[in-house]
Amino acid sequence: MNEFEFDTLAIRTGHTATNEQEHSEAIFPTSSYTFKNAAEAAARFSGEEPGNIYTRLTNPTVRCFQERLAALEGGEACVATSSGMSAIMAVMLALLKTGDHIVCSSSIFGTTTVFFNNYLKKFGIDVEFVDLVDLEGWQKALRDNTRLLFAETPSNPVTDIVDIKALADIAHANNSLLVIDNCFCTPALQRPLDLGADIVVHSATKYLDGQGRCLGGAVVGSEELVGVEVFGVLRTGGVAMSPFNAWVFLKGLETLNLRMKAHCDNALAVATWLDNHPKVTKVNYPGLNSHPQYELAKQQQSGFGGILSFEVIGGKEAGWKVVDNTQIISITANLGDTKSTITHPASTTHGRIDPEIREATGISEGLLRLSIGLENIDDIKADIERGLLSIGT
Ligand SMILES: *Cc1c(COP(=O)(O)O)cnc(C)c1O
Repeated sequence: MNEFEFDTLAIRTGHTATNEQEHSEAIFPTSSYTFKNAAEAAARFSGEEPGNIYTRLTNPTVRCFQERLAALEGGEACVATSSGMSAIMAVMLALLKTGDHIVCSSSIFGTTTVFFNNYLKKFGIDVEFVDLVDLEGWQKALRDNTRLLFAETPSNPVTDIVDIKALADIAHANNSLLVIDNCFCTPALQRPLDLGADIVVHSATKYLDGQGRCLGGAVVGSEELVGVEVFGVLRTGGVAMSPFNAWVFLKGLETLNLRMKAHCDNALAVATWLDNHPKVTKVNYPGLNSHPQYELAKQQQSGFGGILSFEVIGGKEAGWKVVDNTQIISITANLGDTKSTITHPASTTHGRIDPEIREATGISEGLLRLSIGLENIDDIKADIERGLLSIGT
């Protein structure tokens, strides 16, 4: 199917109708499958004959989602998982062993940091954190036993961007793999595999669903790494995606490009407006030409994304006032939803980080993060303005 463009792949890939000739993809809520006879059962179990055995291994609805996301990311294979965290866990269990070393950007999703520090280290895997944008820092951290590099770009909440191609070259020169968490951009805005990354991980919970309904994740990459190694962890470790969730996500993919374009348009409008607001001292958004990696963002991404952060005058007290005085924007740390959301990172998602390190990485007491949704842009701006008006001058 790969001669088709993105939107066509997003709508058509993976669908094979049953004898009922249904037009929309069917959901197969079955845990197991039957065999015509004992010989067929034996052939399936031995692997001589391809086919379904049990939903922990394969399911037609899940397969449809996997094929569709693989096509959108430009990867050979995709493994769907029960959550974004289980996608990351499956990659690490599949590719690492005791004595290995990994290098990771310090600005990754908080739970990923906890997973690396509390669990990978417990099994004798060494984890080193470096500044996302500091390519020399990545280079210096490499060792002979560095099996993989892990990064998220743009970062949360300050939207730093790393040059994926340069990072892939650094990794490969050391015989290491590059893993990119592509949750913020989705393949609609950024295709890390095209830029040299070896593996892409997703929290499907965010933009792939796009309406905040289901938990899910995915790993995309080569047949060898993902189709064999990561799939091996899935079938035995059991972090499978449910067929119902797969159906929600594959329908989500059909509108992904349209939604991401609309998220980008709304976010750019909000960022540009906030950038000139008297109560705002700083706006972090890759689409502003004041952003330190604006040029890189233009090359590497086909849109600037739906996430931005901004700093208000008056620190934490003012930040909290803005949060509390909006009316329609949801107060939640979740993101990637049609509904706009607002959060105060220093007291929530990044609350457990040492305050000095937090300040140094740009997560000040007055910083607020927005995930811009698809509500009317004038209503979104008016709501943020309501919040900003509540801050004394
Ligand atoms: C949410 C998120 C995850 C974890 O995904 P879950 O589906 O919540 O397990 C991983 N990475 C990023 C960037 C996320 O935003």
